Amino acid sequence: MKKILAFAMAAAMTLSLAACGGGSGADSSNKGGASNPPVVSGSQGGTSAGASDPAGFTTVEPGKLHMSTNAEFPPYEMLDDSGVPIGIDVEVAGAIAQKLGLELVVDDMGFDAALLAVQNGQSDIAMAGITVSEDRLAKMDFTDSYATGVQVVIVKEGSDITMDNLGEKMIGTQMGTTGYIYASDTVENGGYGEDHVIGYETGAVAVQALISGQVDAVIIDNLPAQSYVEANAAAGLTILEGTWVEEDYAIGLQKGNTDLMAAVNGALNELKADGTFQGIVDKYITAD
Ligand code: GLN
Repeated sequence: MKKILAFAMAAAMTLSLAACGGGSGADSSNKGGASNPPVVSGSQGGTSAGASDPAGFTTVEPGKLHMSTNAEFPPYEMLDDSGVPIGIDVEVAGAIAQKLGLELVVDDMGFDAALLAVQNGQSDIAMAGITVSEDRLAKMDFTDSYATGVQVVIVKEGSDITMDNLGEKMIGTQMGTTGYIYASDTVENGGYGEDHVIGYETGAVAVQALISGQVDAVIIDNLPAQSYVEANAAAGLTILEGTWVEEDYAIGLQKGNTDLMAAVNGALNELKADGTFQGIVDKYITAD
């Protein structure tokens, strides 16, 4: 029996965001990007991208790069005070879009929905701190990896929980994430069994469940974990020493979308090589 809590899924919110590259995103609150600098390259011309398009790839909407995400995963993606998606993934996608002469459009939805959107061809790329896994590789393609994800365990300060007795506890995760998938797997496969795991709509809700005592621990990626622990300082949360699992993050594309894959991978690798990528990461992750 799956213990996934069926939270009402908020209607997927579509937010346009300027392809502002490594910029501050300060003007990104202007939905639709009306005030953005021109981002349409000569070859694209803003016309319908067809097979004969010199750019060699097509996108869901001509002139745009749709990124599906779940803006609940700081610092990779989150909403700013005015509800505009920001974060490492958003800015990297913006820089990729700019290189490809496209305008980035961020489609914010649930995590599962963000993966499905790209699989079904409703978005061009999915970026949401997405771990490359064998199961997902069967359903979608991934670019080269752009980050290492480390999953950790959040507990209440002073709890008796260790990495070794997690199997006796109730664990909260974000549904659809690898944290949920691995933790709810059978004990033989290294998990704790479905009866020990609850999947919540977001990581933030899972952390609230820990605070209110519905679960004993939350398994989630390290950077969001740090952010949630800091945001709930009064609740006295702490991250267990050690790594629960280490993974690679990459950008997801629809299976077989090889032309766009080549373009996105090319742009991503250029951004890595010229330092833009690291510049974006450094904006959001400061060494303690
Ligand atoms: N890295 C995890 C996964 O891909 C979690 C991602 C997320 O919650 N946005 O499943």
